[in-house]
Amino acid sequence: MAGDLKPLGLDPACIFVGGQWRAPESGESLPLIDPSDGTEICRIARGGAADVEAAIAAAEVALAGEWGRATAAERGRLLATIGRAVLEHVDELARLEAQDVGKPLTQARNDVIALARYLEFYGGAADKIHGETIPYLDGYTVYTLREPHGVTGHIIPWNYPMQIIGRSIGAALAMGNACVLKPAEEACLTALAFAEIAHRAGLPAGALNVVPGLGAEAGAALAGHPGIRHMSFTGSVGVGKLIQKAAAENVVPVTLELGGKSPQLVFDDADIDAALPFLVNAGIQNAGQTCSASSRILVQRGVYDRVVDAMAAKYRGLRAGPAMIDLEVGPLVSARQKEIVEGFLAKGADLTVAARGFVMDEAPVGGAYVAPVLFTAVNSTHILAQNEIFGPVQVIIPFDTEEEALAIANGTDYGLVASVWSESGARQMRLAKRLRAGQVFVNNYGAGGGVELPFGGTGISGHGREKGFEALYGFSSLKTVAAKHD
Ligand code: ADP
Repeated sequence: MAGDLKPLGLDPACIFVGGQWRAPESGESLPLIDPSDGTEICRIARGGAADVEAAIAAAEVALAGEWGRATAAERGRLLATIGRAVLEHVDELARLEAQDVGKPLTQARNDVIALARYLEFYGGAADKIHGETIPYLDGYTVYTLREPHGVTGHIIPWNYPMQIIGRSIGAALAMGNACVLKPAEEACLTALAFAEIAHRAGLPAGALNVVPGLGAEAGAALAGHPGIRHMSFTGSVGVGKLIQKAAAENVVPVTLELGGKSPQLVFDDADIDAALPFLVNAGIQNAGQTCSASSRILVQRGVYDRVVDAMAAKYRGLRAGPAMIDLEVGPLVSARQKEIVEGFLAKGADLTVAARGFVMDEAPVGGAYVAPVLFTAVNSTHILAQNEIFGPVQVIIPFDTEEEALAIANGTDYGLVASVWSESGARQMRLAKRLRAGQVFVNNYGAGGGVELPFGGTGISGHGREKGFEALYGFSSLKTVAAKHD
């Protein structure tokens, strides 16, 4: 492994602060496990409160110096340069992500390309976001300034490290913030590699600092630090609530993206052949460990059997195996995650299985593999139809009328993504308005896709918007200047 990390210049046992690799204050490390076979990849730093303190101090130094003085155009150009540097390392980064997360290599490669695309997008946007002038009283000139918050905190999960770095760090840097990033303890190598790549490409020291460590240690220290002026969190609902409470103590804005139970609604008049790949892929992509995975498929009675049969046929061909073999499904991220998913499956013992995929014989016994499962004729109130499972599991729920479909779709505590499959324009428009979700797709579904598309949830899926231009508003604060001049 050490050989693989060398070209990327990262030291996995270190934190990255003020443009330098340094040992964590604790002097301790944590094992990083390859979920494809259960072996240790390397040791990572066990960062803690003192390291977070140092990272915030380094970010403040960056804001007071070269980085704080950079113009919007300079920041934008730099982000675009970093994006190109990321692409120069596409193969190494993809391998690193595949090994660390257990993500099939092709999916990992797509994530590297998405990271580069975020940097291209936010690089281009950095100098195209501005304030406005406001007509006011006679003798006044009033205008608004969009300013960075200052030091922003970013706590990210293990499922899409590179994509989430792109949407979160990319947007924050575009607006001139300095960032402290706490990647997940299960997968943090690409976050560290990205920091090195960004600095080699010219990002000033302290503009991005990375402190790996445990959630309850480095994560909690970052979330509760008064030096953080904005907190962006992607992860579980339980930890999201802790983050919001910690931010409340310091009266700091938070963006929370906490997952979902996102439905796809398939009506009798839908183009079923067009829908099929989306119905399945949106559920099993990244082994179902996707916040915006579509884990509920709602199907109208007239096409019910056809959709179930076609999805079942696809499921029977789904193979789970080591990330590097690059099949449809990799292992889950950890033995713990596998236990959680198997716990849900045990609660679904009363359900009808439409079909299962399978775990390949080549899959090492120490890997965290779960064969994909498709349940049919599921009642919408069942525990598997209400809770985010975060594994390769989908439930199909029948419905008769549009009203019933809407009630089922809106009938969970989540509200992240939804999609409508129908050829009726009126139904598309009606449901797009009435579905409780931060994103609605019509005759398609984008799990995690769409750099340009504002993304975020309602209900326990969280609040605030990432991606697109919208994220730039979240990562900045508006100042109104009212000048009286006569
Ligand atoms: P999951 O259960 O899917 O691992 P989590 O919400 O636990 O999701 O983790 C997402 C991120 O939040 C990770 O970086 C993790 O280290 C961090 N985290 C976990 N617990 C805390 C906490 N108490 N305070 C701050 N961050 C935390």
